[in-house]
Amino acid sequence: MKNISRRKFTKILGCGCAFSMTSCSYNPINKRSQLNIVPDSIIKHMSDEYYYEFLSDNDLVKDKKLVKKVREIGRRIEIGIEKYFEKENRLNEYKKYQYDYEINVVKDKRTINAFAMPTAKIVFYSRIFDFANNEDEIATIMGHEMGHVVAWHSKERMSHAVALEFVSSATGGIIGSGSALSEIGYFLPFSRFQETEADELGLRFMTLAGYKPESSVSFWINLKNYSEKLEKYKSKHDLGAKFLRNLPQVLRTHPITENRIKNLNRLIPQVKMEYI
Ligand SMILES: [Zn+2]
Repeated sequence: MKNISRRKFTKILGCGCAFSMTSCSYNPINKRSQLNIVPDSIIKHMSDEYYYEFLSDNDLVKDKKLVKKVREIGRRIEIGIEKYFEKENRLNEYKKYQYDYEINVVKDKRTINAFAMPTAKIVFYSRIFDFANNEDEIATIMGHEMGHVVAWHSKERMSHAVALEFVSSATGGIIGSGSALSEIGYFLPFSRFQETEADELGLRFMTLAGYKPESSVSFWINLKNYSEKLEKYKSKHDLGAKFLRNLPQVLRTHPITENRIKNLNRLIPQVKMEYI
């Protein structure tokens, strides 16, 4: 869900000028060309640095049963991904990338979230399990996160951030700084596009892994109900800021719009017809 922190983006922006600005690459999974101007070695270095720092700063959940279950779901989704590529006749192409998935659960009673690193390291915050009522709903989160990984979303976002910084310095600040542009909305539609793509891929992967596709909708409805409950209690004063502060991270990075649920509902019959 959350891909990589702004701090890390800012850090990579600092290295932006050194890169060639002309590279695009074709991603076999989403069959679209993506901006790819940040070398894989830098992405790996940054991701590892962030990931291991994050793990050392947070307590891992000790409930072996839960961790085992979550990792098993991850393994099943991996098989779902392989089936997806097999059906698309691109399994060899997928295998070329040798994703080394690693799944961890950190103890956190307040943060409702999960995130994926481009290096296929996936982290769940324990609080999210209060909203995922069964394995199928956990598989929804897992499919979505793995969707971000295989569709190279972090790589794409980083490349766009570097490109923005380049445009910004080239125009001498007329357009505004890259960071400001990203804040005023450049990334908003872009992120929503990626979110939709991760939802769709996740739905396909979980269905191929044998999970109930309808659980993708029920999971988002659980979060939507919670967000509506929170909204009811928001203060009449300082309304927007206070609500945003209290809004769980997952809802800030994953706005639960009617469209999100509508889109999944629209796709479910199609996916069932294709895969079941
Ligand atoms: Zn996401």
